[in-house]
Amino acid sequence: MFSEFLAGSTRCSRTSCQESAAWEIVWRNPKIHGPEREKIWLSCPDHKVFFEGYLGQRGFPVRAVALSGEGA
Ligand SMILES: [Zn+2]
Repeated sequence: MFSEFLAGSTRCSRTSCQESAAWEIVWRNPKIHGPEREKIWLSCPDHKVFFEGYLGQRGFPVRAVALSGEGA
């Protein structure tokens, strides 16, 4: 599984990945989480597609927010 999100960490959440995160992968499991209980994984550019696919396959609402996109 994936390492837990740590506040202040900017490392990709993918197990064994040491890259810096460029994206917040914001997701929720509708079966166990209410609308206010969003979870955040951090992702490097290479793993953004992996996380979106992993969560999307399960039917979880997921969106990616760029960490560096201050004006976006
Ligand atoms: Zn990664």
